Amino acid sequence: MTGKLSIKAGFRAVDEVYSSFEEEVRGFRTGQACKSGCAFCCSHAGSIDVTTLEGLRIRGLIQKFSRSRQKSLEKSLFREVRHREKNLVVPCPFLMKNNVCMIYEIRPFSCRRIYSLHTCTKENPPRVNRKVMDKGEEEIKRLQEIDSTGYLGHISYILHMLDAPGFLDTYMGGGFDPGKIVVFGKSHNIVINQKMTL
Ligand code: SF4
Repeated sequence: MTGKLSIKAGFRAVDEVYSSFEEEVRGFRTGQACKSGCAFCCSHAGSIDVTTLEGLRIRGLIQKFSRSRQKSLEKSLFREVRHREKNLVVPCPFLMKNNVCMIYEIRPFSCRRIYSLHTCTKENPPRVNRKVMDKGEEEIKRLQEIDSTGYLGHISYILHMLDAPGFLDTYMGGGFDPGKIVVFGKSHNIVINQKMTL
């Protein structure tokens, strides 16, 4: 959790970061090649990092999906964790067959910050303005500060952690116990957010 903030206030603070980023970089994105149905970034992303707080909201939405969708997503997330552990890049588990994101409305900042000024191919990855990249880095720090008792890591790993009862209880109680994730955290490049505010 966010320590001093309630979950709802934390979600609002996250949304403010998303909105202010979109507002500030709008001018740089004029002429972007991105359009509905293009899922290059969702299929070739090295890592889709989310804070625990962003992950918690995504988890809440998953719990509202039909049981069959939840089951199939569970399998995709599990498969993706295994693939990533072998350093294989596979399409995001939230990408549907029609190339639409099933959590689009609450997609994490990692997805919001990426765009391209040309149509992407494997040989020609996204081209992003440097100022947008720099602004994105600043916003990630803000998201980590908001989620000061949480963590930052690849979406499937954070969701995996949130499914661990011991972890979720500590986090939801506003507690902070990095010792509980030290092995998983180190082996999966999970960053402790609290380092940002100490
Ligand atoms: S969460 Fe959605 S937008 Fe982000 S990579 Fe996955 S499918 Fe794409």
